[in-house]
Parts: sequence; structure tokens; C-alpha cells
Amino acid sequence: MKTALISDIHANLEALREVLADIADQQVDEIYCLGDIIGYGPNPCECLDEVIDHCQVTVLGNHDQAALFDPDGFNPLALTAVYWTRDQLDHGPGTPDEIHRRWDFLGELPRMHRNSALGALFVHGSPREPTNEYIFPEDIYNQRKMEAFFERIERYCFQGHTHIPGVFTESGEFIAPDECDYVFPLGAEKVMVNVGSVGQPRDTDWRACYAIVIDESGDRRVEFRRVEYPVEETVRKIYAVTELDNMLGDRLRSGR
Ligand code: ZN
Repeated sequence: MKTALISDIHANLEALREVLADIADQQVDEIYCLGDIIGYGPNPCECLDEVIDHCQVTVLGNHDQAALFDPDGFNPLALTAVYWTRDQLDHGPGTPDEIHRRWDFLGELPRMHRNSALGALFVHGSPREPTNEYIFPEDIYNQRKMEAFFERIERYCFQGHTHIPGVFTESGEFIAPDECDYVFPLGAEKVMVNVGSVGQPRDTDWRACYAIVIDESGDRRVEFRRVEYPVEETVRKIYAVTELDNMLGDRLRSGR
């Protein structure tokens, strides 16, 4: 069984399309999306359509939630992007049916998904607060916080939200993808895996990031993948929208 995990697309259609093309080459059985399909980027409607068509499981992210309800805890720059995104969702592109399909999809997203056979939990943020809580690499130094996460998971938790990929072990380590050659074996030890961000990486690597969980007889592992995409095209689109701060484009070039 191979499951591709994508997260934090943030309305970056160029990154999403390249990632979906890469996934198509990997012979995966299913694709899960761990939230934040929209927010920040220039193509919220198109990205929603791609996720609706390709993903078997999707969980709610804080930016997806912000489009639906009163946005909470967003800075002015992010808030302006939220309102612009809502406007895009309300007015197309597409037929009235397509517009309704997007809103219905967002409105029905669960906060978490469980796979009992794998002992795995899938969330956007954390096992404690599935939609909003961040787990940063430096949190490994906060033992009490880490314990609160690990006591809530059976074996594995897969998450996004920080846009920083890597593996948190129960023994208190954070292992970035380039520290494990982009493959981490999943064994008996509990781990939390951040799958990184498709559309706005923040680990100083500008390439789109996603992960594949491979579960074959006797071999279970997670593989991180980086995919190049035409970043300048996305930057140009962001610059062209007044409500999207130019900084949202600039940061894509440096992956910050
Ligand atoms: Zn995000």
C-alpha cells in the first residue's frame, strides 16, 4: 500500500500540478490531503477542484476553516488574503454548481482521519488541537508538550501546518528529511511526521514538498519528495493581485 500525503497547498496551482504529476509516476494507491488547500496563493478555486478530484481523504486546515468561519489569530496580511480568497470562492471561476461543490466540500471536511490498521492519525496541526496547534522542531525541548502529543497517538501521526518537513520521535529527536536521506523507517516506535508544504515551503528549500507512506509486507517507511515547479509563474500571479502581499510571492523563491 502506498499513500501520498500532501499538505499546505495554499492555492499554489503550479506547485500542486507538478506534485500530482510526480505522484502519478510513483504508483500510489491513494492520496490524502492534510489541509490548507487555500489561503495566501492566487488559485484557490483551481486547487480545490484538483483536491476534490484526486484526494480520497482530506482534513480541515486553519486556512480552510478561515474561509468558512470567522478567521481567528490571523495577521493583517493573512486576513486580507482570507477575504480575497472568500471572494474568489463566491464568484468563480466555474458554473454555480462548481462554486457550490467547492463550498460544500470545504464545509464537510473532518478535523482528523484515523487508519486503525496502520495505527495512524492524520491531522493538519497536532494530535491535541487537530486544526490550529503548531508543532515546531524546537518543541522537542519542551518535554511536557511532546508527551501530551505522543500520549494521544497509537503509533503514527501525520501532520502539516508548520510547512517544515521532518520526523519527531518519541525519544525527543527531530530528524529533517536531508538528515535521513529522505527515507525514514516506520517501526514500533511512535513518531509524528510532518509532510511539509506543497505550495509554500518554509525550510529554505523552495521546491514543493510531500511524502509517501509505503506499507509493504515487512517494510514500512515514509519517503519525502521534493519537486521543482515554475515558481516565477506563481510569483507573477501573486504580484498581479493587490490583496495578496508581494511578500507572499517573494517568500516562495527562498522557501521561507
Ligand atoms: Zn499552512
